[in-house]
Amino acid sequence: MAKIEWPLKNFFITDEFGAGRSHTGIDLAAPTGTGIYATDDGVVSASGNGRNNSWMGPMAGLYVLIRHAWGYSGYAHMNAFVVYAGQTVKRGQLIGYVGSTGLASGPHCHFETLPLSPNWANGISGRVDPRTHTLVPQGSTVIPPVTPPKKKEIKVIAYHREDKYARNGGRTVAPGAHFYLHTTTPNTWNAENVAGGVGAYSFTGHLYAQGQPGDVVRIVYVIQNQKTTPARSSTHYTESRVIDKNGLVRANVEFKRGIADGDQVFLRFEADTANTAPVKVTALDSDAYLFKVV
Ligand SMILES: [Zn+2]
Repeated sequence: MAKIEWPLKNFFITDEFGAGRSHTGIDLAAPTGTGIYATDDGVVSASGNGRNNSWMGPMAGLYVLIRHAWGYSGYAHMNAFVVYAGQTVKRGQLIGYVGSTGLASGPHCHFETLPLSPNWANGISGRVDPRTHTLVPQGSTVIPPVTPPKKKEIKVIAYHREDKYARNGGRTVAPGAHFYLHTTTPNTWNAENVAGGVGAYSFTGHLYAQGQPGDVVRIVYVIQNQKTTPARSSTHYTESRVIDKNGLVRANVEFKRGIADGDQVFLRFEADTANTAPVKVTALDSDAYLFKVV
């Protein structure tokens, strides 16, 4: 049996299923105009005036019948209904209002559950006691969000950039000086438009340099957005390294970052102002990987 919701928020029960006189549902008394809500997800199989449907006949007054995965639910004596045959309804969706149409001595919702293949003319034997289902308060069911199917993430190289001046003989960087990775002209900005466009990136910078043991160098990724108004925004990602006892420094610096429209990425090498000697950079390059969901 299904876990379903009572169709009303507040009510009192005036008649149970069976109850010695073949009552085919449960009567939920509430003031005229009280909202009636779908007990579960389903599709409206019929709504209207009961005299046009064999379910309860004219006794039903205004009614709604909903087909669910587990069977039907029926709601009778409505003051008004707001859903129509063929309409998909969600659990807890408003379907009508309490009234006393048809055969009713006062305002109430006659609530029934039926199996998927009911015999409409079969009276109580065609129905199921709603209490054979697990009934929970109206509006109390938390419907879990639909999780989209798991997608696969792949890493594709967007660019590889090498500082050709470092490679061709090395760059000498005085204490407190810096340069930007560049492939053509030294010491000028290199606007590295991210090749793969907007997306999630992983940047890896590789450095090889020589200098005075104990001196400090930094690799800085600078991300600027050229489309931000009025001023362009700029963020930095920095990692420091200490030159080892052999006078060498090798660094692989990696960081991840989402690239938005207008973002440009620069790689800057810095020699600390407190350094005791110039640093010679013999290799500096940067890779960008784009994570694509496929
Ligand atoms: Zn009833």
